[in-house]
Amino acid sequence: MLDKVLIANRGEIALRILRACKELGIKTVAVHSTADRNLKHVLLADESICIGGASATDSYLNIPRIIAAAEATNAIAVHPGYGFLAENAEFADAVERSGFIFIGPTADTINLMGDKVSAINAMKSAGVPCVPGSDGPLTDDTERNKSIAKRIGYPIIVKAAGGGGGRGMRVVRSEEELEESINTTKAEAGAAFNNDVVYMEKFLENPRHVEIQVLADGQGNAVHLGERDCSMQRRHQKVVEEAPAPGVSEQMREKIGDRCRRACVEIGYRGAGTFEFLYENGEFYFIEMNTRIQVEHPVSEMITGVDLIKEQLRIAAGQPLSIEQSQVQIRGHSVECRINAEDPDTFIPSPGTINVFHAPGGLGVRWESHIYEGYTVPPHYDSMIGKLICYGETRDEAIARMRHALEELIIEGIKTNVSLQRRIMADENFFAGGTNIHYLEKKLGLQ
Ligand code: ADP
Repeated sequence: MLDKVLIANRGEIALRILRACKELGIKTVAVHSTADRNLKHVLLADESICIGGASATDSYLNIPRIIAAAEATNAIAVHPGYGFLAENAEFADAVERSGFIFIGPTADTINLMGDKVSAINAMKSAGVPCVPGSDGPLTDDTERNKSIAKRIGYPIIVKAAGGGGGRGMRVVRSEEELEESINTTKAEAGAAFNNDVVYMEKFLENPRHVEIQVLADGQGNAVHLGERDCSMQRRHQKVVEEAPAPGVSEQMREKIGDRCRRACVEIGYRGAGTFEFLYENGEFYFIEMNTRIQVEHPVSEMITGVDLIKEQLRIAAGQPLSIEQSQVQIRGHSVECRINAEDPDTFIPSPGTINVFHAPGGLGVRWESHIYEGYTVPPHYDSMIGKLICYGETRDEAIARMRHALEELIIEGIKTNVSLQRRIMADENFFAGGTNIHYLEKKLGLQ
């Protein structure tokens, strides 16, 4: 096993990684900014190092300082968590070139999947269903672009190959708008991502977001852990996630899961990963792959009993996968509510000191968070301060537990979105299951 792991992240995911390391007897190094001296995992780690100022560019995004911290503490491996440098191929490469293990796929895989055009091509040749599209970059040949769009059928969406975070895309509803939309997206993409390659795909009007969790050891073994439904979103940010996805049959799960599993083997994937799909009228359409652990990984853990972070650590240590596909059993249902320090109506972040805090508990209730009474939420980072995950033998039971757990959860001193989560859990359409990616914004009057 790995002797010592440096956790290159903060907040709840850093604590989650620390707990998994402790269970496996791995020593831990926490790196933190000047604003994060009192983070829970920093206080619990075997060693901690301050790597810079509060601004993320000075600390959690500062590659040389993180490498220096790994060198100073004799760490063996680096876990990037999610966000920050987790999908940065340059970082993965720097970690490995400095003699450490990067807990994730190779830099080449991150590059392949980081470019949406090359990702789609790799997935197509591996037999993963993709959105009908331009099969590669658009050129400045207007007639060619028009005929591609005609073949796909309007509405279409023009997307930047290097885009991310829901930016760099534009919906086009008619031929008159096509040329200008392509040019604008190209210009924006060049400025924002330093890459002006754009491509085109069919715009799906009312899809759900359904994604497949995979684990692969880079030694020819891969498994899928079923799907998650993350359609409850606001501005492309997930708010509630659940597993399994309502209405996805075992047969459909096996079919799409098996495709993803095989694709992992084909591209030599190593680590935990997620294939994101839009799901409409019973069909899956690949949109992108995330080459890291995701915020919503716990719902898959709850229904499979597989500890994804421990598996990441084992894979990084060079061990083959500890499970085969036939051992992955899906049982029950799990729902996750993201808890953010923000105004529940305006979504404006609400940093500050938490002066009263009570965590929920009970059978099937999991609280993943670094906060405690007296903790001050800094203004410099993402506003997510915790995740409440509930499990039930059935979806109804999981939701009933979530409703009660949200009643028990008390966070005072800052504003949070707990009241919004209570509204969602009381919503009859959510309760019925299968709402699409526009549902929440429509309910909130934002669309
Ligand atoms: P990013 O990397 O920026 O997250 P994605 O390709 O994952 O970009 O797309 C983000 C979101 O944009 C999707 O979750 C979906 O809401 C919307 N979207 C992307 N492609 C399409 C499409 N072909 N049809 C409809 N919506 C789309």
